[in-house]
Amino acid sequence: MKYNSTTDKGIVVSASQAIAQGISNDGGLFVPMEIPQYALSEIEALTKLDYRGRAKKILADYLDDFTSDEIAECVDKAYTKEKFGGDNPAPIAYEKFGDIDMNILELWHGPTSAFKDMALQILPHLLTKSLKKTTDKEAVILVATSGDTGKAALEGFRDVDGTKIMVFYPVDGVSPMQKRQMTTQEGSNVAVCAIKGNFDDAQTGVKRIFTDAQLVKTLSDNGYLFSSANSINWGRLLPQIVYYFSAYCDMVNDGRITLGDKINVAVPTGNFGNILACYYAFRMGLPVNKFICASNSNNVLTDFITTGTYDKNRSFYATISPSMDILVSSNLERFLYHMTDKNDAQVKEWMTALKTEGVYTVDDATKAKIKEIFVGGYCSEEKTREIIGTFFNDYGYLCDTHTAVAVSVYKDYVEKTGDRTPTIVDSTASPYKFSKSVLEAVAQGEELPRDEFEMVELLSAKTNTAVPAPLAALRSKQTRFDTVRAKEEMADFVLSTLGVQ
Ligand SMILES: *Cc1c(COP(=O)(O)O)cnc(C)c1O
Repeated sequence: MKYNSTTDKGIVVSASQAIAQGISNDGGLFVPMEIPQYALSEIEALTKLDYRGRAKKILADYLDDFTSDEIAECVDKAYTKEKFGGDNPAPIAYEKFGDIDMNILELWHGPTSAFKDMALQILPHLLTKSLKKTTDKEAVILVATSGDTGKAALEGFRDVDGTKIMVFYPVDGVSPMQKRQMTTQEGSNVAVCAIKGNFDDAQTGVKRIFTDAQLVKTLSDNGYLFSSANSINWGRLLPQIVYYFSAYCDMVNDGRITLGDKINVAVPTGNFGNILACYYAFRMGLPVNKFICASNSNNVLTDFITTGTYDKNRSFYATISPSMDILVSSNLERFLYHMTDKNDAQVKEWMTALKTEGVYTVDDATKAKIKEIFVGGYCSEEKTREIIGTFFNDYGYLCDTHTAVAVSVYKDYVEKTGDRTPTIVDSTASPYKFSKSVLEAVAQGEELPRDEFEMVELLSAKTNTAVPAPLAALRSKQTRFDTVRAKEEMADFVLSTLGVQ
């Protein structure tokens, strides 16, 4: 199995090269040259396995330059009972919102209480093995985060031999809990820096560093190599394919669907990684009917799916679902590549237009193809709060702000279309990561404490739910990283952290 760049099919690399490099030298993203095909009998075989067994099978089909022992080691180290609080790292809660079934796929039982753990607990293992196969250099992992990726990456990479990790976050663009999670990070190979700018500034800055030939050479001369833990790395996307197959198998085993039945998925979307992983699962043979792409007020994807025009020239809103506050959804580039039957020249043209003018429009054929399977919708701030309040107070399920966006968009979809296909609704964060917003929504009008941790305790008392242990432990931790830099100073931060001139 080889991988191409989305913007140049002439570039061909192995799986381990794709993961070690993170992004292609031409600035494109790595995509698998063929997509493995699963017949229903193979999906049936997966229903007999546990999560780790399912992961081993799927990963092996994409990482053919890894031995099965290597894959087993990566999977077994990542998805432990200790780290994910149970045997199934991604359980489904079968809930109802009024008369609408909500099969909530809880992806936040990992160590940082957000779905990024599903990929970032395994990526360091995939990456260190990939590096060993391809280079003798030490990896410098650069991460731009709107909140959850940063912490999940820091936690995944901390003290992993042969790696250093640096995380950049928008100084006013993350929740207090997210900030505290990052600034108190432990580990000897970690650094964290706040940027005066928004998430897109941080992401653009990281992309620029990756493609700055002079900087890359300076690092190389000093024995380092840049790599990425952002969702543009194939090693991030691949593990996410697993939980869609796994959820489908669990629903079959739980008698909720029959093998072969189609499902819908509703995904709270930012960088388009999570929903794209489901698209790969679909291309492999998972019976999916509709992909419901849910956005918050930053609804650039809703407009794109509806009109075929992607236009990032618009206001940016800092919302209560900050991990989805994104104007440039990087992984859409991979989706376009597949939607145009691998037309690298076309993808390159659109991506260049996006960079230079901030806007592109896909042709009618591509637009029609997308609309056949994708539905876009968005949810306002007010509606997000209302959904959290109603879901808990009337129907007994407590969800976070991001999940609420998906619940709302899915509910709108059912009410508009009457489509009752069983639907997996992704829940991407613990409500305790966004305690203030969640508390405001469930306890409308009440006076609330100011302190983040008092809010956490109050939320727990009010809702009779448990605070995830790693979040509770943050209260007594020391701040280690309080650096704030201009967005132009990111490269300097990298060099000075490494002690390289
Ligand atoms: C990252 C994140 C998202 C968005 O996922 P993408 O893969 O970037 O689309 C949604 N919710 C939460 C809580 C997240 O951390």
